[in-house]
This record gives sequence, C-alpha cells and structure tokens, in this order.
Amino acid sequence: MKSEILRLLKESDDYISGQQMCDRFHVSRTAVWKAIEQLKKEGYEIEAVRNRGYRLLESPDIMSEAEIRSLMDTEWAGKNIVYFDEIDSTNNRAKELGEKDGAHGTLFVADRQVAGKGRRGRVWESPKGISIYMTILLRPDLIPTKAPMLTLVMAQSVAEGIREVTGMETGIKWPNDIVMNKKKVCGILTEMSTEIDYINYVVIGVGINVNQKAFDEELKEKATSLMIETGASVKRSALIAAVMKHFEKNYALFMENGDLSGLQESYNEMLVNRGKEVRILEPGNEYNAHAYGINETGELIVRTQKGEEKHIFAGEVSVRGIYGYV
Ligand code: ATP
Repeated sequence: MKSEILRLLKESDDYISGQQMCDRFHVSRTAVWKAIEQLKKEGYEIEAVRNRGYRLLESPDIMSEAEIRSLMDTEWAGKNIVYFDEIDSTNNRAKELGEKDGAHGTLFVADRQVAGKGRRGRVWESPKGISIYMTILLRPDLIPTKAPMLTLVMAQSVAEGIREVTGMETGIKWPNDIVMNKKKVCGILTEMSTEIDYINYVVIGVGINVNQKAFDEELKEKATSLMIETGASVKRSALIAAVMKHFEKNYALFMENGDLSGLQESYNEMLVNRGKEVRILEPGNEYNAHAYGINETGELIVRTQKGEEKHIFAGEVSVRGIYGYV
C-alpha cells in the first residue's frame, strides 16, 4: 500500500485527504498515517495540512521497492521486484530464482553489490547509494542460440531509458556497453541456463553508473557516470522504470521477429563503432578492421584489412577503438 500511496501523491499536484486514501485503499486512517510516516522516514518530504490532507513536496533519489514500484509503467517487465540494500550480485540472486520458480520479468535490484561481476570473471565496481545494479529474469520461448541477442535488446533499452530521463544521447559500444564521451557508463552481463533445444532462463544484469562523482585511479580512464557527464543528479528509480518500459517494448519487437531486424536500424544509429576502425580481440587472435554495424542477429559486420568481410559473434570477443577503449 505504501507504494500505491506514493504513486497517488506523485500523480497529484494538489492535497489528497487522508479520507480519500482510506476509501481508495480500503484501509484505516491509522494505516494511512503509518504509511505516510514511513515514507517521511525514508526521506520523502510530505506536507500535512489540516482539513486538506497530504502533499508530496520533494522526492529525492531514493531507491526502495515502494519507490520503484510507484514509477513502474509496464505490463510484465519489472512488475515483480525483489529489492536488496546489499547483495553479492543481482545476477546471482536472479539465477537462484531462475533455478526455482521465479517468474518471467522479475527484477532484482540492489543499492550495493559486494561481488558485482563483469564478463569472464571480471569485477564490476558497485558502490552504495549512487548507482543502479539490476537484473531481469526471463523465460523466453526461444531456441538457445538466439538468447545472446537479448543482450543487445537490453543495451538499446538502457540507451533509450537514459535519453528519456536525462535528455542525453549515449552511444553503444558493441555489443553491450553504453558509453558517453568514450567512457563506459553502463555494462551488461547476460547469463543463462539452457538445454539443447530450450532455455530454462536468461538473466540480464545491468550496472549503470548514475550519481558517482569520481572514479578511482584504475577506472577513471575508462568509466564515467551520468552525473559526471550531465552535471546533474539523476533519480535512479525513475531510470530503472524507464529502462524497463523500453525493454518491454523492444523485447516484444524482438520476439515478434525472432531476431533484431526491428531494432537493427535504431541500434546501429547509436553504435559508436559504426564506420570506425576497431581492434578485434578474439582469444588468441587480434586484428584491426573497419566496422559497419550489426546484422539482424546482432553480429558485428566488419571488413578486415585484407578486404575480407566478417560477421563477429559476441561470445568471447571484445572490441576496442584503435587508440583506446572506444
Ligand atoms: P569487453 O569490451 O570485453 O566487454 P570490458 O572491459 O568492458 O570489456 P566487462 O566485463 O563488460 O568488460 O566489464 C568489466 C570491466 O569494466 C572491468 O574489468 C573494469 O575494467 C570495468 N569496470 C568495473 N566496474 C566498472 C564501473 N562501475 N563502471 C565502468 N567500468 C567498470
């Protein structure tokens, strides 16, 4: 009920009386009062005026289940939220529930990760109170070979969500990093459990650097945050809800086509590697090539210096700029 009250307060510019809330949610005055007190404790500034009711003055960058739920505008993606103040890794929790009966679309969100993960065992720095660490659990009816394309669906959704909430354009570094000013603002890690011919579950983890003001020596050449790039603080819960809304829409298009053909054009528009020389790092093989964009299955189309056209599958490959990360 707390998130419903919050949603109601957010939607209204005027005062809402305690009685209106009681009638709407079929609860007592005391229950309404308690929920309001809890919201105040969490940091919301709520004005209470006799004979008029309650009004929300300020909602700071609060991350809580109630806050995210009050902003979520989707049918299934992120409708069910599992929230942690602190966790090892949201991907781990999502996989755990994937092994059990976790529902398609369940979203795991944490305020801090103590063992955030990147690809191939790398670490994802996940400090408390300033960024987004979330993982969506999916049970798509797809052949397993198509699942890696979901990573690109998420990359595009994050870029669109950031655009919606901040008005800023970001780029995608193939296949799944979101960059601003040639530095990484978001990383995505997809993991899955499959049989030969079907998918048990897929989890897509998203780490977005939101309100970080600085990075330590090791990361600062490569990482940035929305705060650093825009100069403004961003409400994390609003960004989570926006990413989920775009993901739901893009996922539908992906499932309808069975590939990325419906998203390819907009993805390529955001692709920072497009039309550029890139360095392809394959296990045991490194070379330069010219990148053109993705095809409908999400492979990167490149032409090598010998003139050979290649379609690069993301799996074990990394792509860099010739002179740096992008
Ligand atoms: P690739 O291009 O192969 O995906 P990557 O280096 O970008 O390479 P990821 O697995 O996506 O690899 O992310 C992990 C890497 O990202 C870490 O090794 C570290 O260099 C960097 N990193 C860790 N935490 C953060 C963060 N919060 N923001 C940006 N970059 C980070």
